Amino acid sequence: MTDLPTLRESLEAHGLLAKKSFGQHFLLDLNITRKIVRLAGPFEGRAVIEVGPGPGGLTRAILESDAGKVVLIEKDHRFLPLLGELDTGDGRLSIVEGDALKVDQSKLVEGPTHIVSNLPYNVGTPLLIDWLTGAWTPVAMTLMFQKEVAERIVAQPGDDAYGRLAVISQAVAEAKIVMHLPAAAFTPPPKVASAVVHVVPRADRPDPQTLKRLERVTAAAFGQRRKMLRSSLKQLGGGALCEAAGIDPDARAETIDIDGFLKLAKALA
Ligand code: SAM
Repeated sequence: MTDLPTLRESLEAHGLLAKKSFGQHFLLDLNITRKIVRLAGPFEGRAVIEVGPGPGGLTRAILESDAGKVVLIEKDHRFLPLLGELDTGDGRLSIVEGDALKVDQSKLVEGPTHIVSNLPYNVGTPLLIDWLTGAWTPVAMTLMFQKEVAERIVAQPGDDAYGRLAVISQAVAEAKIVMHLPAAAFTPPPKVASAVVHVVPRADRPDPQTLKRLERVTAAAFGQRRKMLRSSLKQLGGGALCEAAGIDPDARAETIDIDGFLKLAKALA
């Protein structure tokens, strides 16, 4: 990667400006992208999918690492020629033009796969939920989010940020904020600060049916988070459901831990 032009030079050479509609805020400092990749790895030859490579700052760091196959999914076709310059022709890099929300990622790679991504803000949360609860789950994800969303993923009972995203994420995976980045680290800078979250799905995660029920229970409970569960969960059985799960029906959603929500989801069966 050392004989490549800098990322700024590449963007200029291709006449590329960031598009707001695609949530484009680029990391052009390779020291930062290398640090993110160090926090994500080691990959030990496993495949890495990067969603939204844009000008390829993270991609360059991934290609310098011990990743095996590297697959890029980019929606903005303007970046494809620039990304193509990173391909040395040895078959390690594949570039897919498309919307990561629609591409079947299980078909792109074989074996355990890491996801590394500076996600477009508007698709970050749906992609994370899909990776955690869908039919295909990566072995680990190292993802950039707005700081506020990162805090919602790792929040604990009693925190203001504790809600559905925390319960679903932590029921499936260990999630940790591993790096904070100020808005000024990006070009152009977004309005808010960002954070990198490292997410590792557990081997003993709940089965798909329990996860579906967990989504129903958390939607109802946090839909009316200030109400007692006997009332917010009324449509799903209210006090009787809480009793079957061994949960206090007078408690509020924000005080129930992941285990409590899993008990409620299982009782819903
Ligand atoms: N990874 C680059 C970096 O760190 O400099 C770019 C990050 S920028 C925040 C988000 C990137 O995701 C942009 O390149 C954008 O075009 C792309 N993108 C936006 N929506 C997408 C989608 N649904 N599927 C795939 N890529 C998408």
